[in-house]
Amino acid sequence: MSKPQTYANYINGEWVASSKTFENRNPANTDEIVGLFSSGAAADVTAAADAAQAAFGGWAATTAPARGKFLFTVADLLERKLDQLAAEMTREEGKTLPEAKGETMRTINIFRYFGGEGSRMPGMLVPSERDRVFMFSIRKPLGVVGLVTPWNFPSAIPAWKLAPALVAGNTVVLKPASAAPLSAWRIVEACHEAGIPKGVVNFVAGSGGELGDALVNAKPLKAISFTGSCAVGNWLHEQASRRRLRIQLEMGGKNPTIVLADADLPSAIANSVNAAMFSTGQKCTATSRVIVEDGIYDKFLQGLVEQTKALKVGNGLEPGVHIGPAIDKAQLETNARYVEIGKKEGAKLECGGTVLTAGAYGKGYFFEPTVFSGVDAGMTIAQEEVFGPVLAVMRARDFEHAIEIANGVDFGLSASIQTSNVSRVFEYVQKIEAGLLTVNLPSAGVEYQLPFGGTKGSSFGPKEQGPVALEFYTDYKTVYLKY
Ligand code: NAP
Repeated sequence: MSKPQTYANYINGEWVASSKTFENRNPANTDEIVGLFSSGAAADVTAAADAAQAAFGGWAATTAPARGKFLFTVADLLERKLDQLAAEMTREEGKTLPEAKGETMRTINIFRYFGGEGSRMPGMLVPSERDRVFMFSIRKPLGVVGLVTPWNFPSAIPAWKLAPALVAGNTVVLKPASAAPLSAWRIVEACHEAGIPKGVVNFVAGSGGELGDALVNAKPLKAISFTGSCAVGNWLHEQASRRRLRIQLEMGGKNPTIVLADADLPSAIANSVNAAMFSTGQKCTATSRVIVEDGIYDKFLQGLVEQTKALKVGNGLEPGVHIGPAIDKAQLETNARYVEIGKKEGAKLECGGTVLTAGAYGKGYFFEPTVFSGVDAGMTIAQEEVFGPVLAVMRARDFEHAIEIANGVDFGLSASIQTSNVSRVFEYVQKIEAGLLTVNLPSAGVEYQLPFGGTKGSSFGPKEQGPVALEFYTDYKTVYLKY
């Protein structure tokens, strides 16, 4: 077997290798090392933040359209390697090749979208009450921004933080997830090849537990944008608040799909399976609870279980595979643990629930897509995020009861309703406690042109993506001018 490639950190425009490395292994075949990554230390984070600070003045003084042009070049460079990047993503994260290709294309589109924002950079201009006074607000970048990203969208999430941060004139230190750092590394490589000036983009891989403290305490840091678990997000929030850093958190979910009795049954079933199982249930917007109105419950459950059983689990590089592996052993064990909890608390296991070990499965972290029925709102599997292909089916008396169950959790990221009743749709839009709503679509599968983010325990701070993404990465300067 050929020696795995090593990937250095990127600090002040240089590739900086550490003496210590960590392995990025393929979760579908743990014999395969996808790459060896430099294990950054606290000193690397400090050096990266200092380099970003030194580069800030020049980058902020570059016109926004010129900054946008760099982003267009990054998009073009990534697009040339689309197939390679998608295959690498499947090998490091496990999602299927079509899913990985879709995500890589989304990254490219995000760079183009925010490249275009460079030519808009909308401020405000309003008439003054005073004669011959001209008043306006312009956007200014914040300075050095820390970006901390998870493994489940290893390219799109770094992209949807990096692109708006850069076009707004900030300089950045990016800390990718250790389980899947290669896709983010490729974006940084493209930034380097695009000629983005040294120090503007910095990349330090390594254990979040070790680097987090150095990042949140780096002197030049002005803000942190984080996506990941609630535990880490809440810790970062506390640390950042002590220094009055600006912070944006996107965290976990327990997303509901409500199925009303008037729903189109085949499409409600297909949307629920898609949202709960695809990407191995490892999407923050995945459905983990389906709340079904009494009149359609039995038929829906039967179809759901049939379709779930028909899903093919395997290596995402193989054609015809629907569901890849869990990201790692810990997540696999978490899936199995929640299945045991579900059984113990009295839910009925309809299908799945076991770790797959036969043949090639034994080399990866494969788990059978799982459906529980008869789940009560108070059960652990109805309240806690599993982050795997484990779906809880719950029965509701009527629409109001379904909304009550849907809202009865600490989270509020995404939600879906399946119905043909337009009045119910508008009531749902008013009453549901979530930031991302779908109707007759899966709860997962959002685009980049509108605000993204949740409410309640899922999120904190301004939304990401769409034109509002600039709110987090800029400040206003208001000018009153007498002429
Ligand atoms: P995680 O364990 O919180 O890790 C996220 C990032 O934080 C990783 O880069 C991690 O580094 C780093 N980190 C860990 N400890 C840290 C510390 N003390 N200080 C600073 N950084 C630290 O989350 P994950 O397991 O990667 O991702 C799964 C979670 O993300 C799920 O809860 C999911 O719902 C959530 N998620 C939310 C959204 C959203 O938009 N709401 C999107 C995607 C995922 P290491 O990898 O080195 O540990």
